[in-house]
Amino acid sequence: MTKPNIPRAGKKKINHMNRNHSEKNLEKDYSTETHLIYGKFYTEKWDYSHHLVPPITASATFRLESAQRGAQGFIDFAHTIEGEEISKQTPIYIYDRLGEPNKDILEDNLALAESGDACVTFASGMGAVSAALGILTAPGDQVISHKMLYGCTYELLTLWYPRYRIDVKFLDLTDPKNLERTITSTTRVVYFETPVNPTLDLIDIEAISKIVKAENIKRRKQNRISIVVDNTFATPFCQRPIELGADFVVHSLTKNIGGFGTDVGGAVVGPSWSHDRLLLYRKDFGAVLSTRNAWNALVYGLPTLATRVRQQQETAGEIARFLSGHPKISRVNYPGLEEFRQHPLAKRQMHDFDGNFAPGSMIYFVVKGRNPDDSKCRGEKLINLLAKNAYTITLAVSLGNIRTLIEHPGSMTHAAIPGAEQIKKGIDPGGMRLSIGLEKVDDILRDLQEALNQI
Ligand SMILES: *Cc1c(COP(=O)(O)O)cnc(C)c1O
Repeated sequence: MTKPNIPRAGKKKINHMNRNHSEKNLEKDYSTETHLIYGKFYTEKWDYSHHLVPPITASATFRLESAQRGAQGFIDFAHTIEGEEISKQTPIYIYDRLGEPNKDILEDNLALAESGDACVTFASGMGAVSAALGILTAPGDQVISHKMLYGCTYELLTLWYPRYRIDVKFLDLTDPKNLERTITSTTRVVYFETPVNPTLDLIDIEAISKIVKAENIKRRKQNRISIVVDNTFATPFCQRPIELGADFVVHSLTKNIGGFGTDVGGAVVGPSWSHDRLLLYRKDFGAVLSTRNAWNALVYGLPTLATRVRQQQETAGEIARFLSGHPKISRVNYPGLEEFRQHPLAKRQMHDFDGNFAPGSMIYFVVKGRNPDDSKCRGEKLINLLAKNAYTITLAVSLGNIRTLIEHPGSMTHAAIPGAEQIKKGIDPGGMRLSIGLEKVDDILRDLQEALNQI
């Protein structure tokens, strides 16, 4: 066999550092101590074009080479030229908080996953939620939100927004007619999660979008209403709200996109016009995703999302069926169950990338009791038994992990909402949120069965 003729680029010396110190003898003219900081400087090993895995970046600031290039970097930042595809840009990197390669590559991939034009990542899911709402609202505006929300999003809207004189109306958006009745000339945002945390109620994105679009055609561009959907529970594998008419999607990357529960992060996906505003918001409010967390999501989280969620979802279906047939459980909310109240809506809006029904990995179930107090009491007993004895189910907040997690929203994640309000908003005193992991289904069933036998 003859040797294949591999073209060699080695002949032509490319000085990737592009610096002109050739007349200096670096090793002789400078002290060893200083030399330890700069190293060889003219390294020929500076090749980032042939990695299979994108290199992790760890540079808070970037070498600008010339005043002109530095000036151009500042001109280009958050200055998208209309019609220019964001993923095709070659940025001049200046400083991490403005942008750097790991976050930028992750953002391109997240935008693709969610069928959006642009994505900007943030330090946490809450960083993303507050940025999406932050660029869309000003004093005097109104936000309409579903009555049930992730606890901290609820607090953002009830504790902080009144201080900014932004009015927030909470409605039951599972009935879209309620929205039609409530929109006013000051409404700028319709905000919701679907499936709703923690009850797994669903909101019809297409129906909401139809109402908002009919309203927007009457309005000037600057007064239009944007629909923002928190897609953390479903993940883009199970549902892509922008395809169904939403304008923005927010994510906690801490959950199933990160997937392994090691890093906190968030993302906003939206139309191209929002990209510059989101970048400016992140630059000035400062909730910037760390490069290491971006790299983990880019290299481990996103590439394994489909495989993980597909498996979790299959297990969740079996667990949901087991729970719904159990005499000590009064109700199971899982979009994949045929008897689930909103199953037809689930079938319409929750699909994987190939169009298969994708009801996700989250389950909400209620422990039966003689009355609400008894139900709560038994629920707590169940959770304590699981915390003490189960090998495959961990009592912990968060979700979308490779490990199965359970929590009691009434006393934990949604404790900020008073008891009577909780019931009105659909949280049962004995309600449990279960996030299915990658364990074998029989092992999870065994742990659940053992605990249920003892309550
Ligand atoms: C966890 C979560 C958030 C907040 O994300 P963090 O990364 O913890 O800031 C927002 N929305 C939903 C639905 C969540 O589950």
